[in-house]
Amino acid sequence: MSTILKNYINGQWIESKSDATMSVINPATGLRICRVPAGCSQDIEEAAGWANQAWAGWRNTPATQRVQYLFKMKQILEAHTDEIAEICTKECGKTFAESKAEMTRAVENIEVACGIPTLMQSVFSEDIATGVDEFVIRQPLGVGACISPFNFPIMIPFWFMPYAIACGNTYIVKPSEKVPMTMTRIFELFETLNLPKGVLNMVHGGRETVDAILKHPFIPAISFVGSTPVAKHVYQTGTLHGKRVQSQGGAKNAVVVMPDADAETTVKIIVDSAFGCAGQRCLAASVVITVGEASEKVTQNIIALAQSKKTGNGMVADVDMGPVITMESKERIIKLIQTGIDEGAEILLDGRDVKVTGFEDGNFIGPTILGKVNPDSEVYKTEIFGPVLSIVNVETLEEAIDLINKNRYGNSACIFTRSGAAARKFRHNALAGNIGVNIGVAAPMAFFPFSGWKESFFGDLHGQSSHAVEFYTQTKVVIERWNEEWSRKF
Ligand code: NAD
Repeated sequence: MSTILKNYINGQWIESKSDATMSVINPATGLRICRVPAGCSQDIEEAAGWANQAWAGWRNTPATQRVQYLFKMKQILEAHTDEIAEICTKECGKTFAESKAEMTRAVENIEVACGIPTLMQSVFSEDIATGVDEFVIRQPLGVGACISPFNFPIMIPFWFMPYAIACGNTYIVKPSEKVPMTMTRIFELFETLNLPKGVLNMVHGGRETVDAILKHPFIPAISFVGSTPVAKHVYQTGTLHGKRVQSQGGAKNAVVVMPDADAETTVKIIVDSAFGCAGQRCLAASVVITVGEASEKVTQNIIALAQSKKTGNGMVADVDMGPVITMESKERIIKLIQTGIDEGAEILLDGRDVKVTGFEDGNFIGPTILGKVNPDSEVYKTEIFGPVLSIVNVETLEEAIDLINKNRYGNSACIFTRSGAAARKFRHNALAGNIGVNIGVAAPMAFFPFSGWKESFFGDLHGQSSHAVEFYTQTKVVIERWNEEWSRKF
């Protein structure tokens, strides 16, 4: 009988109203570490009710006071980085170093949100007519909520939550049921913030909990990150219920290598991008498109470097790559590799039989590379979300851009070149929301929006930065007339 996690609602740790639970498994050992409630609509009913009550006081708390809690949040996370990173690695599988890097990204978003007193400022026009002024006020919406995926248990809620509460909204975080322990520990630590009760809440669960969020009348703004089919469902259902929704989906990111690219840097960056976090990053390079003779210059070196990466338990110091999240995920990825081979791709590096001594029940797959992948094949088009890199060869930059533009996803696209002209053409023409030039993971800093396109994003305003501030506020236009005569007569 392992621990069942609790929800955090209105400043209290509360059991879910649902009796059903799901196991949280350490993907490196295959062992259960705890259980998480499957969740139900009553949990959301309770959280949304308290968060809505708390909103009345929170929206009237000056922004300068609201951000004082965020300054403390940053200090708490920094002081507990190792402890939180260890929990993250245990439930998510990524290496300890990768978990710590994720923490840095979370903290950067808190830092940006601390600028809310300035970021919420708006425009003022004096004398639109004689003695009449017009201006815009940005006001919070009410209760916001975010629904997170498994692959960044620390960082992703911080793309939204700090901005939302700094703007005067109250909030509900719904972590992924696969990795709920990290955010639970963060919420335990955040108790020392002494935020007014009900401002920050966390509800565990899966599908039923998400659907309750999408329909609840007290929740007008929802941020989602996850796979494309669920992102679409969240966007469609949420907007149908009159909410604003920003919904980030899956990806299939291509990296173009030009013949003039610096081979050494390019190979190192591509291998880090493709196999970091076991390929379970929404900005991971999953396809390399070599142009002309670039193929000869980089392919063998990519294979050699990928082969040198050590797969194992992310808590072991010299391990480069951890396991994938679940056994089902491992089986799905192995099946897709076979599909690729059956479709005519060459297997240049095969990680399917990797063995990790002492961790025989872990969900390990070693770095895998498929060559001469056909862009019409299933393995090229499907988001694999594992340590599998496909290589495609074309003759021109235009052909490479054309392939990227035909892709249903548009999370990111990168180019490696020494030519400013090629880089410019690429950035101008590639249909993807985050572009990298000699960069392998084009992850925007917190003061830029996380700008997915096509089926990688549904909505208009993205997470992070000024977009998050706009998303979590509504504009009120005020037109004012003040007449001196009135005061004299009074
Ligand atoms: P997922 O879609 O399975 O789950 C995401 C969230 O949705 C979870 O909280 C889960 O509880 C909920 N959910 C799952 N199925 C649901 C359903 N049928 N109805 C309602 N809610 C449901 O995603 P995942 O496997 O946790 O994460 C991996 C995916 O997330 C990949 O596709 C990856 O590309 C994507 N991702 C995208 C970004 C981005 O910025 N675009 C960032 C990280 C991850």
